[in-house]
Amino acid sequence: MTWRVATVAGFRDETPAARTLELDVPGWPGHLAGQHVDVKLTAEDGYSTQRSYSAAAPADGERIELTVQRVRDGEVSPYLTEVAEVGDQVEVRGPIGGWFVWRPEDTAPVLLVGGGSGIVPLMAMIRARRAAGSLVPFRLIVSVRTPEDLYYADELRVPDPGVDVTVLHTRSAPEGSRRPPGRIGVADVNTHGWPAVLEPTCFVCGPTGFVETAADVLVALGHDPRRVRTERFGPSGS
Ligand SMILES: Cc1cc2nc3c(=O)[nH]c(=O)nc-3n(C[C@H](O)[C@H](O)[C@H](O)COP(=O)(O)OP(=O)(O)OC[C@H]3O[C@@H](n4cnc5c(N)ncnc54)[C@H](O)[C@@H]3O)c2cc1C
Repeated sequence: MTWRVATVAGFRDETPAARTLELDVPGWPGHLAGQHVDVKLTAEDGYSTQRSYSAAAPADGERIELTVQRVRDGEVSPYLTEVAEVGDQVEVRGPIGGWFVWRPEDTAPVLLVGGGSGIVPLMAMIRARRAAGSLVPFRLIVSVRTPEDLYYADELRVPDPGVDVTVLHTRSAPEGSRRPPGRIGVADVNTHGWPAVLEPTCFVCGPTGFVETAADVLVALGHDPRRVRTERFGPSGS
């Protein structure tokens, strides 16, 4: 895998602390929904550092989209979410990962379970399904602290036939919400996921603690661990 120069072509804020970057990468070989890339920043004095970011959308020629959550005091994410401007250049390499991927030819029902920024590769799968005209039924359960922390909120509000979306809140829920704020549990997955007997492919992504809890819940509900694919968004870097 070679490093390629990527130019910021545009960006949009998803939440007060998360931004989607559109990058033009000449020579980009394409990627599958669920894969990630490494992004490398190099300072004028030659110091460089790298982090991993999931593709937020399916391949679109030489354009890739990443959604980055700002980590306070972080080295890379504040630059990508606050400083980078159209025309700035970084380096990327990838695509990386072959297990946590969804392909349009897959026919099993899909359950997507995301915590916070863990929705990023799951959104790429939803977008890939739509782009391919796939009729495979998807269910998305996404857990965020408050309604303002939900990425892609406008897009998720638009009905997408065959894609059921459930948003869980851990700190404050919208007025009138029947579920009190709280972390994901058995009842949430049992109510809004697929029954294990349908043998769905489950993709779970987010912070390590979230992923371990959600994966344990799925297995406790009878899902075959081989069909529970996980991606942990822990700290990454060189
Ligand atoms: C496969 C993979 C895919 C990823 N995809 C995405 C993505 O699509 N969007 C996204 O926003 N992030 C993603 N990440 C996380 C990302 O790689 C960085 O770790 C994150 O942006 C923080 O980098 P930083 O340089 O700003 O912070 P750092 O300088 O690395 O860390 C600053 C402080 O924050 C802590 N910290 C670092 N990362 C995290 C974290 N993820 N959660 C909680 N605390 C943390 C560190 O321990 C340290 O104390 C992914 C990680 C992996 C492994």
